[in-house]
Amino acid sequence: MRMYDIIEKKRDKLELTKDEINFFVRGYCNGEIPDYQASALLMAIYLNKLTKNELLYLTEAMAKFAKIVDLSNIKTPGKYIVDKHSTGGVGDKVTLIVLPIVAALGVDVFKMSGRGLGFTGGTADKLEAIKGYNINLSLEQACHQIQDIGECLISQSPEIAIADKKLYALRDTTATVESIDLIASSIMSKKLALGADKILIDVTVGSGAFMKNLEDARKLANTLVEIGNMAGRETKAIITDMDQPLGRCVGNALEVKEVISFLLSDETTLKSDELKDLKDVVFEIAAYMVKMAGCGDDIAENKIRIEKVITSRKAYDKFIELIKAQGGHIYEVYMDWIGMNLDMPVLKDNVRYMKEIHAQKDGYIVSIDSKKVGEALVCLGGGRQTKDDLIDYAVGFEFVKKVGERVYEGETILKVLYNDKEKFNLAFDYLEDAIYIDNIEDTLALTLKKKPHVLDIIG
Ligand code: URA
Repeated sequence: MRMYDIIEKKRDKLELTKDEINFFVRGYCNGEIPDYQASALLMAIYLNKLTKNELLYLTEAMAKFAKIVDLSNIKTPGKYIVDKHSTGGVGDKVTLIVLPIVAALGVDVFKMSGRGLGFTGGTADKLEAIKGYNINLSLEQACHQIQDIGECLISQSPEIAIADKKLYALRDTTATVESIDLIASSIMSKKLALGADKILIDVTVGSGAFMKNLEDARKLANTLVEIGNMAGRETKAIITDMDQPLGRCVGNALEVKEVISFLLSDETTLKSDELKDLKDVVFEIAAYMVKMAGCGDDIAENKIRIEKVITSRKAYDKFIELIKAQGGHIYEVYMDWIGMNLDMPVLKDNVRYMKEIHAQKDGYIVSIDSKKVGEALVCLGGGRQTKDDLIDYAVGFEFVKKVGERVYEGETILKVLYNDKEKFNLAFDYLEDAIYIDNIEDTLALTLKKKPHVLDIIG
């Protein structure tokens, strides 16, 4: 078999066989196929797309190239292990909230999360904003922890999906990242390698996501579900809005604080407008995870149970249990409003400065460009430009106003927490362009405010 013939075949829109795809993945990862030939094939795939069979072969070849985790020994009879993944966004702290909620409802969860790169944040970085938290457990330690407490959250293991790491780096330099087929096989190769029985993917859409419009998000969601089902893993995709940052905070330590405050909500705060976007996404994803795990068939009923584990603080206790199990530092604080001591994670949240950004005119917030907010965070040092950059966990933004809300000239729209005045100036250039205020009709403002956050469910 020759790589030249494989490239030629795909260039001419012919279907590649399983053997040919295995030959490519194995050969490229072993260093036998050079970058220029792999790049040519990736571009042919980008232009001519993959058939259903090719998608499955490519995903399975990538998954199998490294270690496949076997979770069968740690499974509870009658229950399924569910994995959750997000295609990424700005202010996306959903995993940190959903995981303890579903664990409190009896679902065993094993999650590997990536670090942020570019304008999207990564759950692994958010966890590292907690002093002492060890995101680098071995697979063996992770399996023990799931048996002990039913939850584990670590970073991407270097033993898993090596092919994806190599191919992603090549795609990044050859303008082939934005192929729905390549994104889907990249995501699903990691999911298949992790060994969970069922997979739920949060496909984000909007200015702060890979998919900029609903049509592309649906295509990606369908492709992910198709690959999962062909590989024998029940897969569901929930399409959620990422046109403005999710929740009120962006920045690693700030987002962990938002997670804590969400998990400590009572019935009234859970119903507030303040939490609406985050709550809608969290409840939908958690309810489906509970169903897929075999722990509750009725989605509406699951949402009621989710509310109960939050307001009873069972979900918060699971969050603290997870942090303690992975070495996170904890302190005790007396909470006036509930009249008792609570465990709190110790955060890397020291900031020197805080600046309020004010509205320049009366009107409504019409849009907040998530990508620009993510880029502003990178400027402050809260995200990475290259994979080896060190990050400042404490910096970030707290949005006082969001899309559809009224503002008056001089009113605070957001607070910026930072440690370096020059970096603030760089970030400010992005922020200035990110928030658009206009004097629109009240009815239009209401429509913007009420825009649904869960846009579709596929699979
Ligand atoms: N996330 C991934 O894991 N892979 C891609 O190609 C894009 C987003």
